Amino acid sequence: LNRRLAEFGTTIFAEMSALALSTGSINLGQGFPDTDGPEEIREAAVRALRDGRGNQYPPGPGIPELRTAIAAHQERRYGLTHDPDTEVLVTAGATEAIAAALLALLEPGDEVIALEPYYDSYAACIAMAGGTRVPVTLRPSERSFRLDLDELRDAVTDRTRLLLINTPHNPTGTVLTREELTAIAELAVERDLLVVTDEVYEHLVFDEAEHIPLATFPGMRERTVTIGSAGKSFSFTGWKVGWVTAAPALVAAVRSAKQFLTYVASGPFQYAVAEALTLPGTYFTAFREDMRAKRDLLSAGLAQAGFEVFRTAGTYFITTDIRPLGESDGFAFCRTLPERAGVVAIPNAVFYDHREAGAPFVRFAFCKQTEVLEEAVKRLRSL
Ligand code: PMP
Ligand code: GLN
Repeated sequence: LNRRLAEFGTTIFAEMSALALSTGSINLGQGFPDTDGPEEIREAAVRALRDGRGNQYPPGPGIPELRTAIAAHQERRYGLTHDPDTEVLVTAGATEAIAAALLALLEPGDEVIALEPYYDSYAACIAMAGGTRVPVTLRPSERSFRLDLDELRDAVTDRTRLLLINTPHNPTGTVLTREELTAIAELAVERDLLVVTDEVYEHLVFDEAEHIPLATFPGMRERTVTIGSAGKSFSFTGWKVGWVTAAPALVAAVRSAKQFLTYVASGPFQYAVAEALTLPGTYFTAFREDMRAKRDLLSAGLAQAGFEVFRTAGTYFITTDIRPLGESDGFAFCRTLPERAGVVAIPNAVFYDHREAGAPFVRFAFCKQTEVLEEAVKRLRSL
């Protein structure tokens, strides 16, 4: 393994899902729903397979039906217009979108500012692209993790090329506010930075929180690469259909990298996701309501079990602090939790460069059936 990747080892999601299997534990670690997305969309995939649509290489940028549906979704929901031919690119999940964007846009030595804790593929992809990551730490404050805008501004140097943003934010559940996004946008314009924004949890925002795409802010449309995922929005994480929307020059750049990573992926599923994107608003409302109820159930259960629970405004994750349980090392806690309670969780420290800043935090996923969450809570209360 080369020096760029040596520090990364095995992704925590593989490690913890394997632990869940080998110990027969409830897996609240890796974020995948235990209920598949809509039946009619699965049927659409079956039809595509059977009718021979997408069984051979689809077009490099993605099938036109899907690119059109992605553009229509961005316009309907956010008022963002995109030309499906030049401003939309279908990728093998958001994971490939992130990788291709960073590989395409970074020069060796460029600095990338990422919000810490950050999704684990960011660090690895920045490294593969020869970039340098500069984490800006979200700080716990009143049951949520917030961005210190002065810290963000201070992190920008002459070598900063790109801001890598994620909202709604995995693993903290933070949804950046209009004020925070305005400040990020102003900084990007002032310092002439590109922005890659991972908005895969765009449909999972709760209560008064609102998801506002960074691309909608003044001066951002031309400098922002926005990433979405059918895995998250329609509960088909195994299909690996994601996408990028951006200005033509940025999409062309990302496509240049993407064509040599997978070239294309998920042919028949692209047809099904094109249909999914035209589901009525009631689908998204029901999806969100279902997840909100699950968030409430697991948040309350974790609090009863003695965890300090941060408020999840978006995503399907809850971050907790284990110190009220007399614990301080999230890694040790997560490695023994399967034996002690038959539950698997993720230590947030893996998402930090400043490991000590993340040490006491542990993430639980609530995209699971109600009975599963209830059983997990019962087990955790016996800790
Ligand atoms: N970004 C974030 C913040 C995620 O949580 C995930 C899914 N775990 C991804 C990207 C990857 O999405 P996909 O499964 O579409 O590759
Ligand atoms: N995004 C999911 C999570 O954060 C897992 C994705 C993966 O396994 N790489 O848990």
